[in-house]
Amino acid sequence: MPHRTNQETKNKSLSFEFFPPRDIEGQDKLLAGAANKLAALKPDFVSVTYGAGGSTKEGTKQIVQRLLGQKLDAVPHLSSGTTSDEDILAMLQEYQAQGVKQLLCLRGDQLSGHGQQPTYAKDLINLVKHQFQDQFNIIVGAYPEIHPDSPSAAAEFKFFKEKVDAGANSAITQYFYNAEAYAYFLEGCQKHNIEIPIIPGIMPITNYASLIRFSGKAGADIPRWLDHAMQDKQHDEADLTKFGVEVVTRLCERLFELGAPGLHFYTLNRWGASSKICANLNFN
Ligand code: FAD
Repeated sequence: MPHRTNQETKNKSLSFEFFPPRDIEGQDKLLAGAANKLAALKPDFVSVTYGAGGSTKEGTKQIVQRLLGQKLDAVPHLSSGTTSDEDILAMLQEYQAQGVKQLLCLRGDQLSGHGQQPTYAKDLINLVKHQFQDQFNIIVGAYPEIHPDSPSAAAEFKFFKEKVDAGANSAITQYFYNAEAYAYFLEGCQKHNIEIPIIPGIMPITNYASLIRFSGKAGADIPRWLDHAMQDKQHDEADLTKFGVEVVTRLCERLFELGAPGLHFYTLNRWGASSKICANLNFN
């Protein structure tokens, strides 16, 4: 863990998520912009998403390599989807040669009309472990508000426990704005003997329409009061962002009270709101 001077955040992990830009110019912009600005906060790692069905395979690899080159611990997201086991293993060999130490293993978002076999994150972890044993630290997704495909809360814990038993070392949650969902989730994990660190995923609020669209797909609940407040400010980006920073700062403070071991920011390749929230929380 990087050296943090502030007592409140001394033992808290901090990480930032990026998506792979479309082209080299986009990569340059990310490296000079968000990655560079957020690196000043000494994150434990930065992660890079992986498009559904492997659609960003090359882009994810390229930007992971460039982030590693900037001395950031870059963590690729990975899902099996339509990619063969051989191709996944070849990619892992490349990652290992580049110096990747951690992977975020996912089922991934399902591509519609692709006739995919249901493979779960657990299956990908088994594949990684079979070939690489403990050479990679494994992070997985967790869903305090219950994954949209889960038939019940009980099933959510059962399947989450299977990922942990397969070898997950820690988990990052889907984002949420209701801190009590996290509190109940931690209690549920305790009851199911799930002992890995569960790091809340944090989505800063900067754009109302895209947040609503994305939350519907991800199964992230937007509380009614928050929805209304954001609607009122949706056409004034500065006002919405200022309000969002306040709301999310308070959420993070509450999550620390509940025992969150760190925070993972879904940055959407922007740095303004994430860095303001981190400053409010005294990450330095
Ligand atoms: P899993 O843990 O495999 O679970 C998926 C669903 O299947 C759940 O409903 C679970 O309850 C159910 N399930 C699990 N095992 C079984 C079983 N044995 N039998 C029946 N049902 C089962 N998506 C991307 O495409 N790219 C990304 O880069 C990406 N990054 C993400 C990062 C984080 C931190 C998180 C939380 C999510 C991310 N996602 C990403 C979204 C994620 O891929 C979707 O939420 C996906 O639908 C579930 O992935 P998972 O690995 O959590 O699924």
